[in-house]
Amino acid sequence: MRKVSFLFIASMIFAGGGCTLQHKEQDRVIKTQIPAQQEDRITVTIEPQRYFASQLADTFFYIETMAPQGTDPETYDPSPVQMTALAHSKAYFCIGHIGFEQAWVDKLKANHPQVKFFDNSKGVSLIKTDEHVHEGRHYGEVDPHIWNSPREALTIVKNMYEALVEIDPAHEAIYAGNLRKVTNRIMETDEQIANILNGSSSKAFVIYHPALTYFARDYGLKQYCIENDGKEPSPEQIKKLVETVKSLQMKVIFVQQEFDLKNAEAIARETGCKLVVINPLSYDWNGEMIRIAQALSDE
Ligand SMILES: [Zn+2]
Repeated sequence: MRKVSFLFIASMIFAGGGCTLQHKEQDRVIKTQIPAQQEDRITVTIEPQRYFASQLADTFFYIETMAPQGTDPETYDPSPVQMTALAHSKAYFCIGHIGFEQAWVDKLKANHPQVKFFDNSKGVSLIKTDEHVHEGRHYGEVDPHIWNSPREALTIVKNMYEALVEIDPAHEAIYAGNLRKVTNRIMETDEQIANILNGSSSKAFVIYHPALTYFARDYGLKQYCIENDGKEPSPEQIKKLVETVKSLQMKVIFVQQEFDLKNAEAIARETGCKLVVINPLSYDWNGEMIRIAQALSDE
């Protein structure tokens, strides 16, 4: 009898211990799971920024993306609901040089003087547009796709960290710890990509829209665009590109779902390149960077 009750009590204690552990797990309430209160939000422009900001601050802030999945942040116009939602944000993180921001940020700042705006591209080594980058979708003289580069991603997360400390200094130590973790993850991704590309014989690739300019710089690759000044290329331009693809023995043509595939398919047929659909605006930043590298490797 005594033995039974001991076992009973022991199992109660054990069960109690289990409960406590579960509670501790649940203590880490992520803001994406509960409705946001005023001042609990940070708005960002694109999904990869939401990924980085979440790694740093999702236990304190609900992170909202201005240009949602499947839209084009270079030509996007915010809805009235989003404009209202921005009023509840403590901060807005700009990616820096993208069409949407060039068209809207001044208006957003004027309408929401209580929201602090931060430029995540501060300190990034920017690439000026050249003959491979067009004017049609990019208003300015700078290639905006800085997030598709592990090296520049390190600067982006550091900028986010500094902004977070400014708007919420009470949690500085937690943000510093999270910055170390996300920095390590980005450096691991960089190392993985370098290893994958090490065995690749081709050092050039074709892409419809020049989303990988910074990625190409990081890893010593050359990017050739199908799009010309944001418009469809002429038959002559395609012919010239086909010759370049053949002479440099390129193997991959990257396309994004948002863009027309017709020309990319025609070039792939004529050159034997494989057509690879990528999403450089994915929330899964690590996964997408690795997938791009794997497509460029020989296997
Ligand atoms: Zn672009």
